[in-house]
Amino acid sequence: MAIEYICRYCHVHMGRIDSETLTESELGFDQLTPEERKDIITSDIFGNYHVHIVCESCQEVLEGHPERALLPSLFH
Ligand SMILES: [Zn+2]
Repeated sequence: MAIEYICRYCHVHMGRIDSETLTESELGFDQLTPEERKDIITSDIFGNYHVHIVCESCQEVLEGHPERALLPSLFH
């Protein structure tokens, strides 16, 4: 299985972990509430996880312009 880390705003690919052995708690998934999980983690038809996080550039935009968090995409 693979875990892909993708920015939720600009969809930049931020990293990938290939592992058959990592547990959900090693990935930090068990720290999330069920709502957060549904929001942050999706899985594809191959059983891989997509984890939607915020990349550094989007994080910077959000810190300067918090209102833009509501927009579907951010422009760097
Ligand atoms: Zn981004």
